[in-house]
Amino acid sequence: MKIILNYGTHGSERVGLYVAREIKKLKIDKKILTIQLANPKAFKLKKRFIDQDLNRSFPGKPRGNHEQRLAYKLSPAIRAADVFIDIHSTTSGLRDAAIVTKLDAATKRCLEAIGPKYVLLMNATKDNCTLSPAKIGISFEYGNDSAATTKSVVVGIKRLLAHLGVIKIKLPAHPAAIEYFDIPSTVKKPAGFRLAKGIKNYQLVRAGQIYATDGKRTLKAKTDFYPILFGENTYTEYFGFKGKKLILR
Ligand SMILES: [Zn+2]
Repeated sequence: MKIILNYGTHGSERVGLYVAREIKKLKIDKKILTIQLANPKAFKLKKRFIDQDLNRSFPGKPRGNHEQRLAYKLSPAIRAADVFIDIHSTTSGLRDAAIVTKLDAATKRCLEAIGPKYVLLMNATKDNCTLSPAKIGISFEYGNDSAATTKSVVVGIKRLLAHLGVIKIKLPAHPAAIEYFDIPSTVKKPAGFRLAKGIKNYQLVRAGQIYATDGKRTLKAKTDFYPILFGENTYTEYFGFKGKKLILR
């Protein structure tokens, strides 16, 4: 069993560092668990990235810009791991979401062990994010850089490690059912447009509903969708992602 716990994919997000400190206390064999800081340069500067979003830079390039080179360097170890965990935080108000780029049986069992409130199947970024090379890849997007987020991510990771047989630990009762969303695409943000009132993450936008305006013109939804990661102030070209509920059998 080889597990990577990765943090600092986005250098401005700090929660992963606090989570890493807690997980280190478990003193898991380093042959089994590697804890790594993905982008030390960006992390030191507390910047999301140096040249471009590392979480959109995979599989990377040997002679590209900073993040493209980094992605290229990180890819083989991510590919070789049995399980790859990536810790993020968000300013969007999104809470307790696990992000995956595939949903096979083994990944689904891991998610059920973790017990997030939401699972987002990110088809929109499945070929270029940190999870892309992983056999089983799970990102934690549980909230802002707070003690509460740290605590719930640590519980989730402990549940996963117990499921994988790496630690023996008594876990709190399993949380309620997980809601799964398929995320096929982004929702573009034309220059000057802002979200219309009442548009909130996980709250259905109906076909024909106005979801953005520039004061004069409006944008209407072509089909029903759930806003996901809307309000993330680090995205400039899109509001967030378009979600559809996934019913699993
Ligand atoms: Zn992030």
